[in-house]
Amino acid sequence: MTPKKEYRGRYKEYMTKYYKAMYRKTKKFLISKLGNKCVICGNSKPRMVFHEIHGKPHKTLTFNQVIKLWKNFVPLCSHCHNALHRYTKYKEKMRELEW
Ligand SMILES: [Zn+2]
Ligand SMILES: [Zn+2]
Repeated sequence: MTPKKEYRGRYKEYMTKYYKAMYRKTKKFLISKLGNKCVICGNSKPRMVFHEIHGKPHKTLTFNQVIKLWKNFVPLCSHCHNALHRYTKYKEKMRELEW
């Protein structure tokens, strides 16, 4: 491996760890505020996703941003979350067609 590649690999590893830790912290915080019951189907599964209600990309938000914006999040199970995103995209497509 070239040193450059090795460095990149380590950097990636570091970032993955960093994001994982931040994600855990964020999730814990949101569960304490919002609970972990899916707002659509009422299930509480271990793999809950906190969705940003305005459709902002929520996977890249930092912990500090989430603390300020926690009221904009809703707990969803992974199933409903996927469905919602598909539906949002579908709605956007429809809007595009209408214009
Ligand atoms: Zn659900
Ligand atoms: Zn989402």
